[in-house]
Amino acid sequence: MLELSDVNAFYGQSQILHDITLSVGQGRRVAVMGRNGAGKTTLLKSIMNAGPRVEGHMAFRSEALTGQAPNERARLGLALVPEDRRIFGHLTTYENLKIAQYGAARGRENVDVDGLLERFPLLGPLRDRRGSMMSGGQQQMLAVARGVAARPYLMLLDEPTEGLAPTIVEQLAEQVVSCCEEYGIALLLAEQSIWFSRQRTDHAVVIDTGRIAFEGNWTEFDRSLEKIQRHLAF
Ligand code: ATP
Repeated sequence: MLELSDVNAFYGQSQILHDITLSVGQGRRVAVMGRNGAGKTTLLKSIMNAGPRVEGHMAFRSEALTGQAPNERARLGLALVPEDRRIFGHLTTYENLKIAQYGAARGRENVDVDGLLERFPLLGPLRDRRGSMMSGGQQQMLAVARGVAARPYLMLLDEPTEGLAPTIVEQLAEQVVSCCEEYGIALLLAEQSIWFSRQRTDHAVVIDTGRIAFEGNWTEFDRSLEKIQRHLAF
């Protein structure tokens, strides 16, 4: 469904990603791990055309990703849940979810927002609360739910566990998977937490200074752990 081949990404003259080749199949869940500054966010933004200049081949659902703007990529069925959440502070939870549907994937049936809220028990009681009145953890849940509300074919989820309490991380992990299964959404997760990644994905990619250092399933990950650890050490 998503195919990247020899992708290079740049901010100005600085090359951040080098020859990235990876794919995410329909309904699959792939984790991209790496330490701070490894290039995880740059990878997700490159797929969405939301910042870096990109060279190389990218295709999504058999369509080449070339010059399409981020909003056009959203229509193709890509949704980015950014690290900094970007919740609309003056809108309520319900409104933040509803508005996501305006940029939803073309040709997909809408997600029912009330049904979606039931899947996030911590968000349900906040249905009418404005984004600016929420804690960081509540905003993070809302950002994930908003990604789901667009009903993408592929959700790009950037470090959802950052700054969250462990109990919330556990709940969020379960909710992400149940939503992906219910609504037919594949996942490309950028994450520093190996625990979170392992719980919820079937494929692991490690990047180090913009290059792929490992790719495989979790059994292969465990087998190569000694070699991989130095790419993940802080
Ligand atoms: P983190 O876990 O800290 O978010 P990351 O793996 O997501 O790290 P990126 O945010 O992709 O890493 O950053 C990769 C490199 O690109 C870093 O060296 C960073 O300083 C640089 N970089 C990121 N954004 C920009 C930008 N807008 N302009 C210039 N360089 C940038």
